[in-house]
Amino acid sequence: MMQIHEIEAIKSILATPKKITIVPHRNPDGDAMGSTLGLYHILKQLQHDVVVIAPNEFPDFLAWLPESEKVLIFERSFDTCKAILEKSELIFTLDFNALHRTGDQMENALKTLTVPSVMIDHHQAPDGYATYTFSDTAYGSTCEMVYDFIHQLSLENLINKTVATCLYTGIVTDSGSFRFPKTTSATHKCVADLIEKGINNSEIHNLLFDNSSYNRLLLLGKALQNLKMLPEYKTTYITLTQDELNEFGHQKGDTEGIVNYGLSIKGIDFTAIFIEHKEEGIIKISFRSQGDFDVNQFARNHFNGGGHINAAGGKSFSNLDETIQQFIAILATEKK
Ligand code: 5GP
Ligand code: MN
Repeated sequence: MMQIHEIEAIKSILATPKKITIVPHRNPDGDAMGSTLGLYHILKQLQHDVVVIAPNEFPDFLAWLPESEKVLIFERSFDTCKAILEKSELIFTLDFNALHRTGDQMENALKTLTVPSVMIDHHQAPDGYATYTFSDTAYGSTCEMVYDFIHQLSLENLINKTVATCLYTGIVTDSGSFRFPKTTSATHKCVADLIEKGINNSEIHNLLFDNSSYNRLLLLGKALQNLKMLPEYKTTYITLTQDELNEFGHQKGDTEGIVNYGLSIKGIDFTAIFIEHKEEGIIKISFRSQGDFDVNQFARNHFNGGGHINAAGGKSFSNLDETIQQFIAILATEKK
């Protein structure tokens, strides 16, 4: 929960109409988009002038979220977004713990601002950049935190079907459809309340998960063919080269969720997916674990990343083969 004096301070800022910008992390996922749009639809009802600015494009499988078409993209509309940021009187940063998670360009713009800011986030080791920080790794999603934050502000009457649809989306995507360990009775109570607001919960699952292109499934097939087993380390990993992505007409979001297949094998408690990004010159990596193996530390220590204990990401500046060799060498020393 946020401290009472912080809630009072935020309430007094919100007492009169303000220019407010809400920011998710770069490569925003369901929780990042759901939480920013959920809060956006609350603040709009209070007559604030609210804009969501995402650092870069969000995936198509989220493009049905209410008013997602109004989200501005910083790296596409640099001057417009910079001007809006500079006029903002309050900034919310949601679902990330350090400004560099917005990418170099947006980080530079955010760093220079001096207006009050609010961080709401559930990742480990938050930076102290925000004026008001609500950071708690016990939550499974930022959307659930926004739900509690709305209650702390006594604005729960504003949770309508639209807000509930956005928040439900982030809870579903970040909890692996209510199966990851941070799914609590509080999560289910929150979800019960959101369903009572009239959301089409089953339809939201269809929109999120049953909307693949044919190519996306073929790409998944390719990824599964590339799956490697390292039973001595209880580990699996998947690779996808840029050529393979191109072969299946890769669209943003197509690789979302593929990493989880590596954990579905009996006896495996650690998995990774390595995806080549030729243009950026990096290998983007996602890590997942079951139980005590801390992939946040693993990503931080070895692959320029971070995240949560059981789900983290990072990147490598070596080529794909070298990155895999490094990965296996690290396993040999750290995971006997
Ligand atoms: P994903 O593997 O789905 O991209 O990310 C898993 C989790 O790790 C997410 O919570 C995400 O925010 C975090 N994460 C992913 N990539 C990075 C990264 O490069 N740096 C940090 N600090 N966290 C990341
Ligand atoms: Mn999240």
